[in-house]
Amino acid sequence: MEIRSVAVGGVVIGGGTPVLIAGPCAVEDERMLREVARAAVDCGVSILRGGAFKPRTSPYSFQGLGLEGLRIMDSVRREYGIPVVSEVMSIEQIGPTLECVDMIQVGARNMHNFPLLSALGRTDRPVLLKRGFMATIEEWLMAAEYLVKEGNDRVVLCERGIRTFETWTRNTLDISAVPLGRMLGGYPVLVDPSHAAGRRDILEPLCLASLAAGADGIMVEVHPDPDKALSDGGQSLDLDGLRRLAEKLLG
Ligand code: PEP
Ligand code: MN
Repeated sequence: MEIRSVAVGGVVIGGGTPVLIAGPCAVEDERMLREVARAAVDCGVSILRGGAFKPRTSPYSFQGLGLEGLRIMDSVRREYGIPVVSEVMSIEQIGPTLECVDMIQVGARNMHNFPLLSALGRTDRPVLLKRGFMATIEEWLMAAEYLVKEGNDRVVLCERGIRTFETWTRNTLDISAVPLGRMLGGYPVLVDPSHAAGRRDILEPLCLASLAAGADGIMVEVHPDPDKALSDGGQSLDLDGLRRLAEKLLG
């Protein structure tokens, strides 16, 4: 099946050239996002990621800056001329998020949130649909249909690991999801090895394996000082790590 490419700002996903998306798990403040954006633009990253609304396991963990996080993303994308992607968890968050970001992410925990998917299907914004960590490939493709049914076919799938018995990684990267998502859905498929592995030391081979399997791009988490990150520090690259990875992947 022909892959339906998706344009995000001026960046084409699924057009044959793999894209690199990078940024912090959560937007923590404006200074850090600018620092990451500068490094990202410098080494050829084409889309900046950052969470404003964070789906945390514990309600007592940092929940993201919310609307202030969106404002920061909007200001940084203008300053650096780079498109941005950020997650929404509820229908009410869609309106303000549309004002500030180029692509909307549906996270693994909300892949089954059908009203949210239908509401995003009534927008014309590209959607990065992450695979639920307990979702089959068929369920993931059906979640994409909820967007398409309402009229939005600007769908990019993202494999981010599924839950298995393995404990040395946070999840298990399912490489089969890459060719199957592309063949059966016709959507571009990205891989997020950061959430799949939960550790930064094996990101590079996972990225290379993903691209070898035909992935249309990679999304990784990056933090200027991962040990101080408010979320997902253990799986985040520092800025030098991002430079080395970009060099390896983009040449
Ligand atoms: C994220 O991308 O920050 C995130 C929360 O990912 P996932 O939904 O895949 O866990
Ligand atoms: Mn994260």
